[in-house]
Amino acid sequence: MGNYYVKVSAELNGVTDLCPVDTPDNPFEYTFKIECTKCREEHPRPVTINRFEQYEVTGSKGSANFVYRCRMCKSEHSASISRTDRKYTSDDNGKAVPLLIIDARGVDFTEFKPVGQFQCTGAGSGTAFDEVDLEDGEWFDYDDKEGAEVSIVDVKWEITN
Ligand SMILES: [Zn+2]
Repeated sequence: MGNYYVKVSAELNGVTDLCPVDTPDNPFEYTFKIECTKCREEHPRPVTINRFEQYEVTGSKGSANFVYRCRMCKSEHSASISRTDRKYTSDDNGKAVPLLIIDARGVDFTEFKPVGQFQCTGAGSGTAFDEVDLEDGEWFDYDDKEGAEVSIVDVKWEITN
């Protein structure tokens, strides 16, 4: 049981306010590698968690965004995700900033895979970039209003307690 933070560090050039596109109409499917804290069995494949979905936890322990039963020790574990109030700004360049808080019960989150849509804004122009793909750890585009190339590079993710 405990809280984990999913942190990102990056270098933003010409853009700011990087964050996942994650609304009830367009929820982000966060992809993780996980393992059971009881028997250390790694889940056979990456799992996705949507913070707007609720599943019942056995034994009327309420609900969570993610519930699974470990295939080895048969324990049921659960987790929920919330967004911090942070976006990654150009002032954060090089620093690790927490974007997600995971409330984990019996699950260790070992890796975050940035599969999905992120967004950011032109630092001077306010241009909205709504289809930022960070799967390769970098992103390049052109800000028409500014007449300049923009990019996000050196994207690194970490999960900490
Ligand atoms: Zn287990």
